[in-house]
Amino acid sequence: MDEKIAPHLEELTRALGDLEKTGIRAEFEKLIAFRVPPDIAKESILRKFGEKKRILKVKDLSANLKNFEFTGRILDLGEKSIRSQAEAQEKPSRLYTGVLADETGSVQFSSWKELPGSIGDVINVKNAYVRIWQNRIRLSIGEQSLVSKISDSLLPSLSELSASQKKKLIDIRAADFSVDTVACILQLSYREVLVKGRQSRVISGVLADETGRLPFTSWIELDGIDIGSIIRIDGAQVRIFRGMPSVNILSSTKVSSVGPEEAEKLAFTFESVAKDPVPIKIEEIDSRDSMFDVSVAGNLVSVRPGSGIISRCPECSRVIQKGNCRVHGKVEGIWDMRIKAVLDDGTGSMSVTFPRELAETIYGKTLEEAEQLMFSDVSKDAVYEDIKRFLTGRYLAIRGNSSKSEFGISFVAESAWLPEEDIAVRIVELLRRLGSDEEDGSDKSSQVSRGGIELA
Ligand SMILES: [Zn+2]
Repeated sequence: MDEKIAPHLEELTRALGDLEKTGIRAEFEKLIAFRVPPDIAKESILRKFGEKKRILKVKDLSANLKNFEFTGRILDLGEKSIRSQAEAQEKPSRLYTGVLADETGSVQFSSWKELPGSIGDVINVKNAYVRIWQNRIRLSIGEQSLVSKISDSLLPSLSELSASQKKKLIDIRAADFSVDTVACILQLSYREVLVKGRQSRVISGVLADETGRLPFTSWIELDGIDIGSIIRIDGAQVRIFRGMPSVNILSSTKVSSVGPEEAEKLAFTFESVAKDPVPIKIEEIDSRDSMFDVSVAGNLVSVRPGSGIISRCPECSRVIQKGNCRVHGKVEGIWDMRIKAVLDDGTGSMSVTFPRELAETIYGKTLEEAEQLMFSDVSKDAVYEDIKRFLTGRYLAIRGNSSKSEFGISFVAESAWLPEEDIAVRIVELLRRLGSDEEDGSDKSSQVSRGGIELA
């Protein structure tokens, strides 16, 4: 028997490394014990642990990730017993929870397996996945995961990793367990909410530094802090809000004002961060899971079906079909208008949703005017066709929030405008480039481009 499996084990070792340490040998032997032929067992192990070998860092973690490898140092570890109703007779399962960190950040985890290490140790997890728990990202270690202890890791020491990590806003990711940052308050608003039956005041707003902006929520009073204040935040939590990271200030978070002397040394001021965001390229948006309050300019290359007049459920605002809500059944729908379109800037493309006010602005017709068109025309797609005719090919600037999924980038516009003056600037710029080519005494290429322009 051993002779039969030895060559397969050798091959697996070559492909996957130390089989004992990673627990792959045990997995292989389990299959053999179930009378799986050795070559089939080998293939199945290779499929499971070999091909899709993705090694991720904390900064790469986002919702819906599965089957990846992760190495981190245990910063915190606890356990509790979980007894489900159905299995009341059985002995309770143990759930191990805590925090894992690498040089890019720290993340909460939960594990159904006892870990082969304790606080301070580095562990490697194969077949890890991400779960969202209370709007936070959790690295999950399940029955199918393999966990091993790494004794010679190059990760920073426990004390270095435990010191909460100072980050610029652009580096704060959804997975971050705890962050420190220095930022300016750009927007501030207050609302009353019920927290555990008690009326409390919650502060929310927008933080900014020289790298970007992020929404924040504070569950504690921020005395003496107002729009324009520059604050130091130590030990904030990150939660996911509308698909993007949001900084949460809790009672355990320390917030202090940054004095004028220290503020002078910063790379930003309230005036510099309060300016409208400079348009960025879609390829940059595509390189990140989400971006908050950015602007982009490009051409609307297509208007997607589902644009135009829609009917919404009065209870839940879902889009309804033929007076039927998926949740509330037969309802009296409320008319609404929206536009979904694809914007392309030459570096990439993305799907953009324009809610009613913006749809009215860029289409140039109000909802009421569009309704008239819908009722006066026999075609039920009259408004959609009209929007397509009017908007396809237009050059448009938008500002809003992006988030990425397996279907690509979706961008929700919060403002949109037709940058007329921008077209003039672009033509002048183009002519200048062609002109300077000519002054250089060059060559056929400028003649060719000029020809191109005359033709167009
Ligand atoms: Zn409904």
